[in-house]
Amino acid sequence: MPLRRVLPSDHLLLDIKYATADNFTGQPVYKKPLCFIHADAYEPLMAAVRAAAAQGLKVKVFDAFRPQEAQELFWAHTPDPDFLAPPEKGSNHSRGVAVDLTLCDAQGNELDMGTAFDAFTPLSFHAAEGVPDHAKRNRQTLLTIMQGAGWVMNPKEWWHYQLPDAKRYTVLRDRDLTEHMM
Ligand SMILES: [Zn+2]
Repeated sequence: MPLRRVLPSDHLLLDIKYATADNFTGQPVYKKPLCFIHADAYEPLMAAVRAAAAQGLKVKVFDAFRPQEAQELFWAHTPDPDFLAPPEKGSNHSRGVAVDLTLCDAQGNELDMGTAFDAFTPLSFHAAEGVPDHAKRNRQTLLTIMQGAGWVMNPKEWWHYQLPDAKRYTVLRDRDLTEHMM
């Protein structure tokens, strides 16, 4: 199986937003608050967690693998190519090699990144000028950790990172998550 389950740990928090109503669609999209990622992306994610821990920080993951069915639902809700990949093109989340995440302090409080996760506004762009300096620094801290662990940033979403060769992976669907993984 290409997908691997990601379990929470001391320095890896999970807040799978699409399993709750606290997401841009206003309703739960995933049946369970579980986190999966492509096996090739697993070690890079753990490397980021270790790098964050070395700075006294924690990583909080909002989304990783996203079945193609969920991407189709998102696109029907918000067909905005600045923030979502059209389903026919395929999201790198559906390839299992993208992750949405932020940093938390040692107490688990999210660092201020200037916008919330999935804020569909130009303020979410990595280099947005209207963001306070401390939030710019927090974004930079996340960028340095993620790039050091082998991830590539997305200029339009401070929370989104993916593997450099993401497009060579296959788009996966609900059926690729088998019961024994959950
Ligand atoms: Zn993303």
